Amino acid sequence: STSVDWDRVRSDFPLLTRQVHGKPLVYLDSANTGQKPAVVIDAVDDFYRRHNANVSRAVHALGTEATESYEGARRKLAAFFNVRADELVLCSGTTFALNLVAYSWALPRLQPGDAIVLTRMEHHANIVPWQLVAQRTGATIKVADIDARGELDLPALYALLTPEVKLLSLTHVSNVLGTVNPVREICREARRRGIVTAIDGSQAAPHRPVDIAAIGCDFYAFTGHKMCGPTGTGALWARREHLAAMPPFIGGGEMIREVRFEGTVYNDAPHKFEAGTPNIAGFIGLGAAVDYLSALGMAQVEAREQALLEHATQALSAIEGLRIFGQAREKAAVISFLVEGAHAHDLATLLDLEGVAIRSGHHCAHPLMHYFGVPATCRASFAFYNTHEEVDAFVAALHKVRRLLA
Ligand code: PMP
Repeated sequence: STSVDWDRVRSDFPLLTRQVHGKPLVYLDSANTGQKPAVVIDAVDDFYRRHNANVSRAVHALGTEATESYEGARRKLAAFFNVRADELVLCSGTTFALNLVAYSWALPRLQPGDAIVLTRMEHHANIVPWQLVAQRTGATIKVADIDARGELDLPALYALLTPEVKLLSLTHVSNVLGTVNPVREICREARRRGIVTAIDGSQAAPHRPVDIAAIGCDFYAFTGHKMCGPTGTGALWARREHLAAMPPFIGGGEMIREVRFEGTVYNDAPHKFEAGTPNIAGFIGLGAAVDYLSALGMAQVEAREQALLEHATQALSAIEGLRIFGQAREKAAVISFLVEGAHAHDLATLLDLEGVAIRSGHHCAHPLMHYFGVPATCRASFAFYNTHEEVDAFVAALHKVRRLLA
């Protein structure tokens, strides 16, 4: 698994050669959004230069090319995640995908007395839609807790899965702690109890092989811009029987078979949920991203990032007064940390002056910050295109910045 030439891979990413504040950029914010290889940028450019037309409406050559490329991207995504293409609803990202589940699946079904189970480590995108559903339906929300390592307390989670629970929605990988949740086992336990499961795959899809069919969930949401694709792309995978039973979320063109003022016949899924002109160029770019990742091999990507994580964790652990949040036994390449006596934003601002881009803040996970009793953390997140030299540069910059703040 060391056969990949990672220097060559890095050179596929034009942006990574730039400087910031006169220093070579060290981009450690891939959990926020990922950088794009030239093949993705070129695919978007080529679409607008040579093929641009709307999908599904025109019989002319360009229209046919656009539709074929767009549907081709859907098929590539389906193969990448081992699901059927007609079970993938293309949308703007995880936030839209989870809202689609909330509005089309949960809102018509839930009633007072029903419950939704979430976990302490959810992103706001997997909290707020359920609060909106709960307010409108009278359902309640129960929260599964984590332990000091940042792992889910599984017996406590299963104890929450009582008969009134209709839905369990949780993240595959935590964007703050890096914790990889055992979603396959969890979905099996939920399914045994007749509970529908939704998985937020935002932080898993870019970093490890994901076989949605093997997970055994009902819904799986992911975002394209974290997996080398353009912003404004993503999808919801859902079991066919759910898609067939769900009413549309957004109405308009493309999603209908016949419209009369007396009533409208909807198109079949997934088109029923894709009203309006989609992000055609974006999905063509995402198709190129999936080709790129597939050629690398997601197992190789995962191994590379694990090596970077191990290196960074060891180096950071040697810094006195540095606290790492999240020590899960299975962890993605995300390190949240604080340095004693330094504010997270001050650290991130000074690191930026050294060319090192990390994120500071609550990471759209207020309940997790409350759990740890901190308003914010710093977060360094790694991707396969990062290097061990960058890990060293980051750690050296951290030492320097720390002296400045002391
Ligand atoms: N869930 C998780 C775990 C995330 O990390 C993110 C992105 N930060 C989202 C959901 C939201 O994704 P998007 O903004 O692309 O909809």
